[in-house]
Amino acid sequence: MATAAIVGINWGDEGKGRMVDLLTQEYDIVVRYQGGGNAGHTVINEKGKFALHLLPSGIFREGVVNILGNGVALDAENLSKEMDEVISQGVSLTPDNLKISDRASLVLPWHRELDGLEEARLADKQYGSTKQGIAPFYSDKYQKKTVLAGELFYPEKLREHFADLLEWKNLTLTRVYGAQAVTMDDLLAWAADYGEKIKPYICDTADYLRKANKQGKRILFEAQLGSLRDLDFGIVPYTTSSNPVAAYAPVGSGLTNARIEDIIGVVKAYSTCVGEGPFTCEMFGEEAEKLREAGFEYGAKTGRPRRVGPIDIVATRYGVEVQGATAIALTKLDVLSYLDKIPVCTRYKLYGEYTDKFPFPCALPDAEPVIEYMEGWKTDVSSCRKWEDLPKAAQDYVLYIEKEIGCYIKYVSVGPERDSIIIR
Ligand code: GDP
Repeated sequence: MATAAIVGINWGDEGKGRMVDLLTQEYDIVVRYQGGGNAGHTVINEKGKFALHLLPSGIFREGVVNILGNGVALDAENLSKEMDEVISQGVSLTPDNLKISDRASLVLPWHRELDGLEEARLADKQYGSTKQGIAPFYSDKYQKKTVLAGELFYPEKLREHFADLLEWKNLTLTRVYGAQAVTMDDLLAWAADYGEKIKPYICDTADYLRKANKQGKRILFEAQLGSLRDLDFGIVPYTTSSNPVAAYAPVGSGLTNARIEDIIGVVKAYSTCVGEGPFTCEMFGEEAEKLREAGFEYGAKTGRPRRVGPIDIVATRYGVEVQGATAIALTKLDVLSYLDKIPVCTRYKLYGEYTDKFPFPCALPDAEPVIEYMEGWKTDVSSCRKWEDLPKAAQDYVLYIEKEIGCYIKYVSVGPERDSIIIR
């Protein structure tokens, strides 16, 4: 297919990076269209093991052009570090295979600081921010108080813009939070260090994409996080500050006339969630600990232990609908092989009634999970490469999920390596 998006169906960390890494062989261009460096994809391939935060997962494939679209939160400091890291692991990054939109807004030094200050003010009512400055960044973008990456090419105008922003932002920093003011010298030093580093990669990527699209190049849109973290459709306010839904890809990538033919929704064979907020199917105690260990569920960015639970049919069905997924990649099936019986959250009980509908955000904390059990397979499935290789109980589990969420499961992932995949 000429255009496709790979998106998360649940709370993020579904294994999107692994799927993009696998599927980039069929695409010429990979574009990140939203979010920042606040989450991470883990990719394992013949070049090694990588934790990507902002770089698109296509950077490992020769000939693939990777784009950071206008919709991303462009953290030049973290991106520079990430680029140095992958280069040191033998990956080539040049302005030919990495392009940054001149219309992407820059995460400025105060955004991260403001994130920390606001979470501290919220005390026991925190949103569970990763403190990467994403929420303050997007708030400022909507207030038109950010700097576009392309402004780095206009030093005089940039300085004037910095001066205006400094005057405004220092009011918040000093008067609201009682923090230190940022100086022009701080900003200029930051621009000299990190702005200069990313400058060679900045160009009019929207124009590049339009031309590429006309030439029939195959374009893959890559999202961060998942449906339930979407600013409009997720578990507000425990969402991210951008839109991980595929519908946002045309805007955030810069290819505004994009028609996305395939929307591949990534679902984990069980549930995980990082940070605060209601997580209806959550498991606790030893049962949770075992699953967390089996799936090695610790955040790629923060190292935080992830909250875990069985697959949640209610949330997943909602996520599939919100994304408009056309096919599903079910990941980490191998992790469940140790279980005698596989728990499944089939429905919720809300205010005394059973429901299949994902509740409105403020009612969600009142929902209780209904857990049923399916037969386990108790066999290592990590070497299975064909559908027929899977034990019957594992096939039944996949088919059950497929039926319940109403979307074809085309890919079943049985390990983190590129080729640990069953394609149906
Ligand atoms: P993403 O942000 O959606 O890409 O997800 P993460 O990278 O945070 O989490 C996925 C993790 O699971 C990574 O460590 C992957 O290497 C790993 N992974 C992906 N697919 C599989 C799989 O099928 N089996 C196993 N065991 N690990 C997998």
